[in-house]
Amino acid sequence: MTASTGTDTVWKGGIADDLSRTILSAEQIATRTAALGAQIAADYRGRDLLVVGVLSGSFLFIADLVRQINLPLALDFISVSSYGDRTRSSGVVRMLKDLNQPIAGRDLLLVEDIIDTGLTLSYLIENLRTRHPASIAVATLLDKTEARVVKIDTAYVGFECPNEFVVGYGLDYRGRYRNLPYIGVLKPEIYQDE
Ligand code: 5GP
Repeated sequence: MTASTGTDTVWKGGIADDLSRTILSAEQIATRTAALGAQIAADYRGRDLLVVGVLSGSFLFIADLVRQINLPLALDFISVSSYGDRTRSSGVVRMLKDLNQPIAGRDLLLVEDIIDTGLTLSYLIENLRTRHPASIAVATLLDKTEARVVKIDTAYVGFECPNEFVVGYGLDYRGRYRNLPYIGVLKPEIYQDE
């Protein structure tokens, strides 16, 4: 399905009208995700790969990504919340849901929706390192390198993201818009109405 058929038939006249513009179409996301999946499969062949989704924003990306990785991987989820205002993280992170299994000696691939300052992921990586995995790598759909405060090694990046607040394909504004099948920028009046 292309972005235009998906958005025109289902989304027009609904939440898509809250966007000022689209940044990435569903088709662009799918094509890039397939390429990343193939690359990950080639890199991790023969290893004990545990893919870890960082909830909630990565739920659509991880669902699509793992279906493009032709390996007998294992899957787990972790959930953290960063204290900060609605559109900026503070680096002070609270663990909401931990992994369900030990990770010592395993190859971890952390899957994020977006890396902004890098503070959330840097906390997570430090926390996970203390459990002695064999390796930790990061896959992110979007990378806002302009906003980076701490250095993060990103092995797999979907797209460079402009330094704007984006929603859709898992990414929310106040808990909404995660179900939009593509990524865009909200109209200013949506923020002003709040
Ligand atoms: P960081 O700690 O790297 O600054 O922020 C990471 C988290 O902030 C992401 O996982 C996401 O939840 C949130 N975030 C950062 N930028 C955006 C954005 O443009 N849109 C949305 N919806 N969330 C964002």
